[in-house]
Amino acid sequence: MGEVFILVEHRQGKIRDITYEMLQTGEMLASRQGASSTAVLLGHDIKNLAEDLSTRISKVLVVEDENLKNFNSSPYQKVLSSLITKYQPFLTLMGHTAFGMDLAPSLSVEMGFPLVTDCIGLSFEGSRLKAVRSIYGGKLNANVTLRESKGYLATVRPGVYSTRTPGEKKGGIVMEPSPLQGTIDVKKFIEYIEAPIGGEDITQAEIIVSVGQGIGGPEHIPMIEEMAKSLGGVVACSRPVVDRNWLPKERQVGISGKTVKPKVYIAIGISGAFQHVTAMQGSETIIAINKDPRAPIFGVADYGIVDDFQNVIPILKEKTKGLK
Ligand SMILES: Cc1cc2nc3c(=O)[nH]c(=O)nc-3n(C[C@H](O)[C@H](O)[C@H](O)COP(=O)(O)OP(=O)(O)OC[C@H]3O[C@@H](n4cnc5c(N)ncnc54)[C@H](O)[C@@H]3O)c2cc1C
Repeated sequence: MGEVFILVEHRQGKIRDITYEMLQTGEMLASRQGASSTAVLLGHDIKNLAEDLSTRISKVLVVEDENLKNFNSSPYQKVLSSLITKYQPFLTLMGHTAFGMDLAPSLSVEMGFPLVTDCIGLSFEGSRLKAVRSIYGGKLNANVTLRESKGYLATVRPGVYSTRTPGEKKGGIVMEPSPLQGTIDVKKFIEYIEAPIGGEDITQAEIIVSVGQGIGGPEHIPMIEEMAKSLGGVVACSRPVVDRNWLPKERQVGISGKTVKPKVYIAIGISGAFQHVTAMQGSETIIAINKDPRAPIFGVADYGIVDDFQNVIPILKEKTKGLK
């Protein structure tokens, strides 16, 4: 059998974590089918990205073109469809991100390939692709088997798979000529606007103390801030905390906030909805404090404390004093 394509997602000269997660998944799926996996890198001035990828996967296919400098689904689709036609991968993976959600549906229509989106599990039954999709806010998992096809497309939910670390491979870099001719004016990239980052960038923090609606009100935030400070960490939160204006939007963890992977994530009064968990489950150690022993957050926590946070925080503050 042929190969699995993994579309590399990069922005502002940096490969995004979802790519490293897909390298792992893509290779696992390919090897089970006796096939190989290939990272497909489209962009401009991307030699350093290709070299990084070649330490993580056995083959990197590169198309360099000025029109691919910033993500734009029109030229991306043109290039990708031409590569798929040439190499005939039996599966092409993309992230279930703004990037993949924009590109995958129209590529699926153009190629006539079935597409399955937002996958949290992928496998093959014979030559048919099977996927697990988490639906109704994480309450149900749907197992779907796609119709027989010579090629499949799938988008993968970020944060589900572990990342492929560098140095595991020494792969080849294959340059492909760009099939684009001139500029494409259906859609135009105008400018990149970075979301404003407040006083703290929670995505860079090694210790995060995160609060949810369960803290009851903003009057408890100073106590949490004090604890975070004594640990050398920062305060983050769930979405209702932002909706209620207890903390600013840039502190929000979740699918509509930031994805974080700190060494320690302490979740206080957070129930553990999938929209939150997806974006923090890659943390090295998760500690949850919740008075409900059945709260879903305990499903991803390494350590759980079942109690009212107001009883726990003073003890934790005392025990962790000077640990920074
Ligand atoms: C399209 C969409 C996007 C979303 N994006 C995000 C997102 O980016 N981030 C996000 O977080 N959510 C997001 N949500 C919302 C998400 O579905 C949940 O509603 C939200 O995560 C719940 O926040 P919470 O855990 O703080 O509150 P709740 O679900 O209300 O949980 C509060 C928890 O606190 C516990 N508790 C109560 N009192 C105490 C106490 N005294 N001591 C200890 N524990 C206590 C309770 O047992 C409960 O488990 C999104 C939803 C949708 C539909």
